[in-house]
Amino acid sequence: MKPQTNCKALVLPDYHQPLELREFNIPEVEDGGLIVKIDRATICGTDHHITQGVLAPISKTPCILGHEMVGIIEAQGKGREVDVAGTPLAIGDRVIWAYAYCGRCYYCAVAMQPTLCTNFTPYGYADATIHPHIIGGFSQYNYILPNCHVVRVPDEVPSHWASSASCALRTIMHATDRLGGIRPSDTVVVQGSGPVGLYGVAVSRAIGAKHVINFGAPAERLAVAKSFGAEQVAHIETTDNAERLAMVMDLTDGRGADVVLECSGSHFAQEEAFNIVRPGGRIAVIGAGDPKPMAVPGMSFIGKQVMVTGIRSAGIQYYREALDFLARQKNNFDFDLMFGDTYSLAEIPEAMEKMARLEEIKPIVDPFK
Ligand SMILES: [Zn+2]
Ligand SMILES: [Zn+2]
Repeated sequence: MKPQTNCKALVLPDYHQPLELREFNIPEVEDGGLIVKIDRATICGTDHHITQGVLAPISKTPCILGHEMVGIIEAQGKGREVDVAGTPLAIGDRVIWAYAYCGRCYYCAVAMQPTLCTNFTPYGYADATIHPHIIGGFSQYNYILPNCHVVRVPDEVPSHWASSASCALRTIMHATDRLGGIRPSDTVVVQGSGPVGLYGVAVSRAIGAKHVINFGAPAERLAVAKSFGAEQVAHIETTDNAERLAMVMDLTDGRGADVVLECSGSHFAQEEAFNIVRPGGRIAVIGAGDPKPMAVPGMSFIGKQVMVTGIRSAGIQYYREALDFLARQKNNFDFDLMFGDTYSLAEIPEAMEKMARLEEIKPIVDPFK
């Protein structure tokens, strides 16, 4: 069969503009690169933020949206015979990959924090007018650049799960590591019950936290949080700050949470994190998108000696951990509770609207539907 030479992709022409289906050429693969056919993509809340210009000027337009996806290798450049862990790669294998970090800037080479790279190509918000153009998951094909690290997807992990590993779950893996891990005596509060928050609950439970609490909405998502191991949940619309604080204090002998994973992106939740964390506790701010700044008095940092870290994306080690987690935990968690319907490229705007109305948690995209 003659290889496909062009493909369809969903483009954001400019911020606040409607998404458009456009046709792209599939370029020849260069040494170290890969051409993949997108098997499944999934939609992230950040996709909506990108359409609103929240990530500008890091994001560019026009861009092919979508940064959670799984590709099936169709063409393999010379020198790309194994993945990042040394697992052989062959035509037909499924892979996920990190953004193309340059490896040479201060943040890549000296600080060893490639997610802060000053010269990177992000999938899902890169300039689609620049070669090789097909850099974004809401497309039938993608070009994996030579400086992208790649992980082969284990056979037992379905593509839609692996797709969500490439943003939602790898971000949680990055967060728990940056916080110094979660320990057996830790009480973890996860704020937010979207996909990142729900994965936060599952990971905290699986790696052995003593108590896991979830704050979020609506009720159906809190039910998923419970099934993922949250012992207590609080609906943010029917409880107030004092009630949620009391819930945390009751479980922790009046000390507060050892770890707070802020996954909602709301400045109210970010402020609340400082109230519910114990003195000396740790907070990861993972949610983004609220234009309002959080108002936290300096004494909340000093008086409580809190450790706070922001989490931006993740390096490839966390993609690999995320896939290992899904493969290992597939019988312990019904991850499919998080996933919704499967949409075509043209139906993505409808799926994004359903997400905004909280009718979908994690919609799936089949670009060949
Ligand atoms: Zn994302
Ligand atoms: Zn760099």
